[in-house]
Amino acid sequence: MLSETTKPQSDAQIDEALADAHLPSLMMSLVHLTGDASLLSDDMKPAYDFFADGRLGGLTPDKQDRVRGLARAAIKAYRAGDGKLPPPPAPKTVRRMMDFIVGGEVPERYMGMMMEELAVDGVDQKRPHWESPTLKSAAAKLKVLIIGAGMSGLLSAIRLQQAGVGFEVIEKNADVGGTWLENTYPGCRVDNPSHLYSYSFEPNHEWPMHFSTQPVLRDYFKGCADKHNLRPHIRFNTQVVEARFDEAAKLWRVKIRKSDGTEETLVANAVISAVGQLNQPRLPDIPGRDSFAGEAFHSARWRHDVDLKGKRVACIGTGASAFQFVPAIAPDVEKLTVFQRTPPWLGPTPDYHFKVTSGERWLLEHVPYYEKWYRFWLFWMLTDGLYEGVKADPNYKGPDNAVSDFNAGMRAMLIEAIRPQTEGAPGLLEKIIPNYPIGGKRSVRDNGVWIAALRRPNVELVTEPIKEITEKGIVTADGVLHEVDVIIYGTGFTASDFLKTLKVYGKGGTELHEQWDGDARAYLGMTIPNFPNLFVIYGPNTNIVVNGSIIFFSECSVRYIVGALQMLAETGAKTMEAKKDVHDAFNVKVDEANRWMAWGAPQVTSWYKNAKGRVSQNWPFPLVDYWTATLKPNPDDFVLS
Ligand code: NAP
Repeated sequence: MLSETTKPQSDAQIDEALADAHLPSLMMSLVHLTGDASLLSDDMKPAYDFFADGRLGGLTPDKQDRVRGLARAAIKAYRAGDGKLPPPPAPKTVRRMMDFIVGGEVPERYMGMMMEELAVDGVDQKRPHWESPTLKSAAAKLKVLIIGAGMSGLLSAIRLQQAGVGFEVIEKNADVGGTWLENTYPGCRVDNPSHLYSYSFEPNHEWPMHFSTQPVLRDYFKGCADKHNLRPHIRFNTQVVEARFDEAAKLWRVKIRKSDGTEETLVANAVISAVGQLNQPRLPDIPGRDSFAGEAFHSARWRHDVDLKGKRVACIGTGASAFQFVPAIAPDVEKLTVFQRTPPWLGPTPDYHFKVTSGERWLLEHVPYYEKWYRFWLFWMLTDGLYEGVKADPNYKGPDNAVSDFNAGMRAMLIEAIRPQTEGAPGLLEKIIPNYPIGGKRSVRDNGVWIAALRRPNVELVTEPIKEITEKGIVTADGVLHEVDVIIYGTGFTASDFLKTLKVYGKGGTELHEQWDGDARAYLGMTIPNFPNLFVIYGPNTNIVVNGSIIFFSECSVRYIVGALQMLAETGAKTMEAKKDVHDAFNVKVDEANRWMAWGAPQVTSWYKNAKGRVSQNWPFPLVDYWTATLKPNPDDFVLS
């Protein structure tokens, strides 16, 4: 039966929705609606151009009309037919559909990951199933402590709940959401499309914008916590100060501090750190920083009580955060001085601030399989498409602002795409084009508002290095004092100090940070020798620069961690510890691969490299390799006891 919400609409309403359709996804829906795959012909196959509107799939206007016409008829027939669909396409057809929608060929080794992501059968394949009596009884005895109720912590809680494993979440804030709760700066929004940046098992057809703003994302995560009834399992306003492994008991003893200062020790079989990489603000070591007489704050600790209207404001940094708040505050302030040390690469994204139209929402909600294929398309476009372009070619002989001929070609193309925005502003293009290779740092989403903000008469872009901060403002190396009332630090986070806010003692009393000695490493980003049953999500070498969404990475990690607990339950072992040789060999491979990525190039400096110069943040391989490596833990990689 058609539900109340799928009541027939007028032809005009359907036409209005189809005008906004993502045509490649609509063609996939057509196959489901009609059972006819003849539309998947070579002459109708989408072709994508980096700079063109992907919604149209490169189809000529008459082909676009054809697709919309077929869809109009099929949708009407489907609705008239009481919502019945023909038998689902055979696996071979689904395979063809995948190649068709991506306008190329999905390589065989991606097939498992992409099939799982598409979930055409509606099955959430990452969901744990602890159904045997052995597993059920083991689950009932286990207790896992999760640190953090952000995106990864909530995800861990959902999966453990589904497995029937006991868990408790410790959260320092008063609510869930992590980074999406803490970052409230003006203009804050996600830089991955929202229809992809969401849990694979919790799609949202109601995203108001293609790239959601912070309050919308915060509410999405709050909604997930409520839907899965997680709040009773979360201790808010509570900080984990220390986790200590008790070797005799094979348990973790975790000291927590509540907001009233009282402490308590909790006991757990395993600890999952979901504390994130990007939440401890980094204030720069600029001489005189504390002498400034005005207000000063970091972007992630935005002072909403400081009224910027009519003030002279300085922004230090031009990374992803500043890129969003500078255009948002520029119209309000008297003068905004932006201090840029290194410009970011700007990736053209015309729809960055676009609303999702009511037509698009209608299609996502009502046209069978449209939402699934749309997410699939977004996923593929962000998967490993740019990966080859940021790989260094050891034989490359060109200037060091690129790492391969291909990378140099991308550079030239991007400069030409940016140039028109700077016409009539002498010297601006030279200032904002990075001298490091594309992929050296994460690029930002450009829809024109950044350069428009820099061109405002009340905004000045300063590229002269900062010498010092004084009572009155910021002095640059050329001796100029830039007098300001407020300084905003858009200077990022102490990302390479993993688990910075707590002490973790493993076997023999080894402290984790002492073992790391400023150079955090883990096996698959998650497990560390000497620290049995400690699992880290978004740990060392699991950040991504050009491929995928971090939610996907967390979903892979959590599946692996739940699989590790299952391995313990099945073997009867109480603990598992990564073997040192396995861990070390993995890290050798990671380091070698990172050396040959743009972000690992010797001429690039960024927060991806730790104080020792090692890239401790990034995953250097294709996305599919993480998916494959984390399907299930290999017992041979661990000491079980
Ligand atoms: P960031 O990318 O680390 O940027 C920090 C900026 O501050 C850089 O321009 C850096 O210049 C500059 N800086 C640091 N120390 C300085 C100094 N002493 N003098 C002058 N400039 C200095 O930090 P972020 O913008 O907060 O972003 C961090 C990460 O968070 C992003 O890469 C992204 O992964 C995530 N993020 C995502 C979003 C989103 O999804 N929309 C938004 C915000 C953040 P150098 O480059 O020269 O070091």
